[in-house]
Amino acid sequence: MYHGGGGGGNTRTRGGTGRRATIRLEPQLVEMIIRAAAIGEDSLADAITIGDFTSQFHGNDFSDTEHLVALQAFRDSHPVHNVMGTYCVSFTPSGTGSTARIIIFNIVANANTSSLDIFKIGTPTSTLPNDSEAQTITTRLTGYNISLSGFNDSNERKAALMSMNAFADTELDKVRGLSVVRRTNASSSTHGEDREAIGGEYNQTQHQVEIYNRGYVEGLRLAYGTNTGAILPGVVAAIFHEVGHAIAYSGIRQLGRSDSEARQRYDSARSQMRTRWPDYYSESGEGDSFTYRYENPRNVPDDQRAEYQSDLARLRETISSAESANRAYTQATESPMMISFGRTIRRLTPVTPYSKRVAEAASDDASRLAAAEEFFAEAYAVYKTYPDWLRDNRRAVYDFFSQDQHLR
Ligand SMILES: [Zn+2]
Repeated sequence: MYHGGGGGGNTRTRGGTGRRATIRLEPQLVEMIIRAAAIGEDSLADAITIGDFTSQFHGNDFSDTEHLVALQAFRDSHPVHNVMGTYCVSFTPSGTGSTARIIIFNIVANANTSSLDIFKIGTPTSTLPNDSEAQTITTRLTGYNISLSGFNDSNERKAALMSMNAFADTELDKVRGLSVVRRTNASSSTHGEDREAIGGEYNQTQHQVEIYNRGYVEGLRLAYGTNTGAILPGVVAAIFHEVGHAIAYSGIRQLGRSDSEARQRYDSARSQMRTRWPDYYSESGEGDSFTYRYENPRNVPDDQRAEYQSDLARLRETISSAESANRAYTQATESPMMISFGRTIRRLTPVTPYSKRVAEAASDDASRLAAAEEFFAEAYAVYKTYPDWLRDNRRAVYDFFSQDQHLR
């Protein structure tokens, strides 16, 4: 006779709910503006005020011409308070017969001081990797099982490789197994008419970053960074942002892996009970919904009892840990790292116009969580390209990244 007291329903809900398949919508990611500013008639004085802001130039190496270039470029802009923008300005100095120059400016409309702070970065001297450098980067990424695919244009692929190569080993390790895929546009079934405005997406289920045409508008132009010798191509804005989402999600991916592992231990313990103790143990029902029944150990012969009890204890332990691992996975709404980031950014303004818009539109818990993740992804991209700016303007967020809290 089987002891009737054991078992019970073991209906399990596996992870992989719809939320996990959620694809983040990315509007315009590239905040870079290319302006052809013809230098000529304007005087400095008539362009010194832009909207509510008075322009302030930072750095001593602005020439008069560069002041003019910057002011002409920004005069029609609509700066968002306390967020930064990157402007890659192309101009041809008049009367010299020289070719066009490109200067990168960072700009921030500082609401506290009513100043439009303009930082000159200068003309980039870095270049896209050559074939041999590209191969070296590919080898480095392969070490983390990170792959690129779908690139038809070799320069686009090189720009993506250059961007991925800007991650530290610890960061690549955090997104191990990631695929980076070049696609034309986001899916129309998910995004409809909006799809052409989307620069990239991170697909949680497939652990895949997709980069679209929008992400490659000016994607090859060397535009991001503060060291003219190490300026990164425009597509880094989309790549850093999307890899940021992968990092934000990695804690939940880890919970998913723990869930699968606990499930495997549990399945193996069940299988062992069925194989070794067919006279004392049985299951009914199928799949994730089944009931088991087992004999009370005192009814098992003395010479088998200890072993039977040990297998039974293992079954119970694996059931209990599988249930708690599954609960942790299916109930997690954000990774432990993002919970910590959420505490860090409380009351802080997001760092870019895009993340600020998302935060202002958030109206419920789910959209606030999504907005915090956009804040994270954008701040991460800024940290990777303009750490000093982040340090000066969002010290707590800078500390979060510089202390590697995003990798915990
Ligand atoms: Zn995003």
